[in-house]
Amino acid sequence: MTHDSIKTLKFATRAIRAGEEPDFREGASGDVVAPIHLSTTFARRIVEQPTGGYEYTRSLNPTRKALETRLAALENGAHAMAFSSGLAAETTVLVSLVKAGGHIIALDDLYGGTRRLFSQVFNGYGITASYVGAADVGEMEAAITPATRLIWLESPSNPLMKLCDIAAAAKLARRRGLVLVVDNTFLTPYFQNPLDLGADIVVHSMTKYIGGHSDVLGGAVIVNDEALYQRLAFNQNAVGAVLPPFDCYLTLRGLKTLALRMERHQQNALAVARFLEAQPLVKRVYYPGLESHPQHELAKRQASGFGGVLSFELEGTLATSKAFLENLDIFALAESLGGVESLIELPSLMTHASVDAEARAEIGITDTLIRVSVGIEDIDDLLADLERALSAAARVVSTV
Ligand SMILES: *Cc1c(COP(=O)(O)O)cnc(C)c1O
Repeated sequence: MTHDSIKTLKFATRAIRAGEEPDFREGASGDVVAPIHLSTTFARRIVEQPTGGYEYTRSLNPTRKALETRLAALENGAHAMAFSSGLAAETTVLVSLVKAGGHIIALDDLYGGTRRLFSQVFNGYGITASYVGAADVGEMEAAITPATRLIWLESPSNPLMKLCDIAAAAKLARRRGLVLVVDNTFLTPYFQNPLDLGADIVVHSMTKYIGGHSDVLGGAVIVNDEALYQRLAFNQNAVGAVLPPFDCYLTLRGLKTLALRMERHQQNALAVARFLEAQPLVKRVYYPGLESHPQHELAKRQASGFGGVLSFELEGTLATSKAFLENLDIFALAESLGGVESLIELPSLMTHASVDAEARAEIGITDTLIRVSVGIEDIDDLLADLERALSAAARVVSTV
């Protein structure tokens, strides 16, 4: 199937077919599943003619190319690149676009590892970052300096599930000559396509929903602009943090069920959110799919769904949080998100422990804020588990 005919297919079909077409050429076997090409080097017959364009696996590998073709087709982009982790993808974007003296504007509730990359790695190379509120494009505009090169957003953010108006940020970026990067890890291309909203670059941690099974680390960058792609692809090869062929295979396999998984993640997340909202021990639930979310209308406007991650605030203290979390059976007490299994964690002591206490307090990450990545298990088992653990936590509150 050609690139153009793939584009006419619906999402769930593209997620299975794009990049993984049976090969019917002379001598090929017609594999339905793309082979895992482990060869690090590719032989040629004629000195100046690499066979099929392949020379060395860091530069180009057939299994990685299959995955990159699929990623581009799913994000409605012209080109995709697969990296060894989300942070490797982000590093390649930064070294490609920001030089010493450059400045980045980023969302204040940014993924902790991205913030660490900006403020503890790239700052050593003379690159500065300003962190601003997500909801307000005015705040972003006020932070622009003559050195600003790019705007880096996530929507929704985590753990507080704040949204950015991507189309408005894209307009601002265009008007001021900046590049807009959107980390689309949480909603995945199934629910949100930032390139369609005007973003220049989409990044993903494929470790989360795209892989989907908590067993493969990976990152992706997807773009439309040809010159931008050439610059990023040069650095992907030059920096060298590419995704290995086995991991490309696992990720291609994970993507085949992305549409099914995301539907179920969302259905379960909404049920968990509504259940929690009705509990006396729960002060507040943060989930863009709830009518009570302050940006519910924006969520509906710029995405076709709300995803599978939510957070909530318990009554009480750290002791309440601990009693609740340590009494769960089905929800695994673990960092990360986006796998088929339900995961739960305490950001203040786990995922966001590297954010200093002052910044945590400013953002609103308390010791009773809990983040949940709702899996695709049976909802009855999930709700029963939460109910049991909430009762255990309520006993702690009543003895304080
Ligand atoms: C996990 C994550 C990353 C980092 O990705 P790795 O694959 O862990 O390197 C970046 N952004 C978001 C939103 C994430 O959740």
